[in-house]
Amino acid sequence: MDKIIRCITSDGAVMVSAIDSTDIAYKASVIHRTSPVASAALGRLLSAASMMGAQLKSAKSSINIRFEGDGELGAFMAVADSYGNVKGFVTNPACPTTHYENGKLNVAEAVGAGIVSVMKDFGEGEPYIGKIPIVSGEIAEDITNYYATSEQIPTVCALGVLIDKESEQVLLSGGLLIQLLPGADDSTIDKIEANVGKLDSVTSMLAKGMSALDMCKAALDGFEVEVLDEFEVKYVCGCSKEKIRNLIAAMPVEEIQAMIDENHGAEANCRFCNKQYTFSEGELSAILTEKKK
Ligand SMILES: [Zn+2]
Repeated sequence: MDKIIRCITSDGAVMVSAIDSTDIAYKASVIHRTSPVASAALGRLLSAASMMGAQLKSAKSSINIRFEGDGELGAFMAVADSYGNVKGFVTNPACPTTHYENGKLNVAEAVGAGIVSVMKDFGEGEPYIGKIPIVSGEIAEDITNYYATSEQIPTVCALGVLIDKESEQVLLSGGLLIQLLPGADDSTIDKIEANVGKLDSVTSMLAKGMSALDMCKAALDGFEVEVLDEFEVKYVCGCSKEKIRNLIAAMPVEEIQAMIDENHGAEANCRFCNKQYTFSEGELSAILTEKKK
């Protein structure tokens, strides 16, 4: 079971979120049948979205992070609720995988240059929308840049997905979000920078058997630390036939009529969980009758 844990230093100057998102990244790779580089990009983004969603204060809130680059991966996105439950998709799950010279997956090349959009929906009022250029394409650096430019919160983000070279399966996935709060003074910043410099990669920490709490403590080495909260998170899609039916019912009468006349029914695939929904001619006619009332 995946987990997010959040810790704060007892002086309130630094907050750290850590996630073990192994099940989430694995499930996403199975649903979308992703290539290694697509598994890594989507897994990293799901980890970030889950941690960022869990920071939203109102229960009805959600966050939607979308990368739109000119690389072969195409656009990909993740949506998380305020409990950190998350779902996502990638336009080209079969994107060819390339590596850096050191053997690491070249996620940046697959993503390419373009825009990152972050939308926070608070369940009421206007959503917040931030758009920034993709600065790296390795995802974590882009999340760090988002916080620096759009929210003015000094942040260090680390994300990682470990993929088995033979089976191409997701073995481990996780993330870390270290954020300086307004009370942080220079000595705190120096200590955090020194800690960040010593940190292993997220997947190395997970591979050593470190928990999300252990990762938080490593990031906050030398500080007195309090655990703020801890909760289980999952890859969840809330789609249902009822919701798809409502989408069809919102379409123009002529389009629904065309589905009946030309296709004698309709098929819809959920882009987040790949579930297929079918509507018979009779079900479509019933929608039309209701619409005409
Ligand atoms: Zn779905």
